[in-house]
Amino acid sequence: MASGGSKLSEIRQTSPLGQKESLELFLFVTGSVGFFQAHALSGQTESQIKKIRVNAARLETRIAELAKFGKNTQGGVDRVAFSEADIKGRGFVVSLMREAGLAVRIDEAGNIIGRKEGTDSKLLPIVFGSHIDTVPNGGKYDGALGVLAAIECSQVLGEHRFLTSHPLEVVVFSDEEGGSVGSRAMIGELAQESLASVSQSGKSVREGIRDLGGDPERLAGAARHNGEIEAYLELHIEQGCILDSKHVDIGVVEGIVGISRWEVRVEGFSNHAGTTPMNMRQDALLASSHLIIAVNRAVTSRPGNQVGTVGKIRVEPGAVDVIPGLVVMSLELRDLSADKIRALFELIQKESRSIEEKTGTKITFFPMDSSAGPALTDPRVQKCIAEAAGELGLSALLLLSGAGHDAQNMARIAPMGMIFIPRAGGISHSSREFSKPEDLARGANVLLKTILKIDRGYLQR
Ligand SMILES: [Zn+2]
Repeated sequence: MASGGSKLSEIRQTSPLGQKESLELFLFVTGSVGFFQAHALSGQTESQIKKIRVNAARLETRIAELAKFGKNTQGGVDRVAFSEADIKGRGFVVSLMREAGLAVRIDEAGNIIGRKEGTDSKLLPIVFGSHIDTVPNGGKYDGALGVLAAIECSQVLGEHRFLTSHPLEVVVFSDEEGGSVGSRAMIGELAQESLASVSQSGKSVREGIRDLGGDPERLAGAARHNGEIEAYLELHIEQGCILDSKHVDIGVVEGIVGISRWEVRVEGFSNHAGTTPMNMRQDALLASSHLIIAVNRAVTSRPGNQVGTVGKIRVEPGAVDVIPGLVVMSLELRDLSADKIRALFELIQKESRSIEEKTGTKITFFPMDSSAGPALTDPRVQKCIAEAAGELGLSALLLLSGAGHDAQNMARIAPMGMIFIPRAGGISHSSREFSKPEDLARGANVLLKTILKIDRGYLQR
């Protein structure tokens, strides 16, 4: 039984209503809804099932154990996809899946899938999970929490001898941090060309997938289709700081922002910095400076959560006494609405035309491969998660994910929902990543309740 059970009863039920922020955040009224009805039980009463909680201590221990694979001297985790640490960590996760009573297979893309059959073979599987690969010097919760909580949910149901009606599938996606390789393959959109790209481990994606036990020549076999999955759920740490700063327990994700990226080339003319008068220059860096400010102006010119960043810049020839002739820089725009991203980009392009004129330069935008479309979560799944949180006495907030996740791809083929827990200080992709043990258990219990509600036909009502 959950050691977190008693703690949960002490949790505030208050939600910070009234804090209407510029970020257009919404609050869910997470009142308890008596949804559980008697059906498809395996020797358990409704009230017994309602009381099932994850084993918080076991979850916490396993997070610490998994963090040993790739542990570095800075206190972080180096477990980039396809590395030795990733492969060994996955072996550990497979052993936990088996312990939880899941039948484990590796699909063609190297995704690990642990399945437990339900009582009704006609029903679609409820799929949940995340990834265990990290960025270099990453933290121990990003991805790992979603995977280990998913295993915990399956295991605790088994320990209570509770069988769901739907099959349950725990998924560990391959190479999330390198561009959601496993989930792209699962929706049938991992192009053969992507296999040649070199991953953080130094291996090509093709070699990496093979080393995980996949079959990169038969990627199509990993593809799943619309109508084959009841729902996809992912529990993750919030990679921002909204929950932590507002003291809210659970984030119900409204959607994952789209990311559009361009390489911007600003061509001017390199000339002597001492002999070229100011009015005769075609300074590519000066033009770029105007453009960077124009990006900021465009993005902040309208209400909403959109963000725009120039994060990388290269100046040529890069000498103190030469007028910059060429600048290559990045432009990234993120928002939940693809239309808004498009409109902002058009605004930036328009501004670039007048900068070209003013500075005698040429500005060209080249779209980058790493762009990803926005993904909305399913409103029914949002509601289900919010109700699950309410029944556990937790406060919840509807928010956006500014970071990409495998769920973004899964939304293309299944009703998708994401649960966020706060992270102390809002730090992520860092060895300083930290979430409180009670938050881990709360998130896992919300996942568990959401699975059970969906199993009882929540999405079919
Ligand atoms: Zn992640």
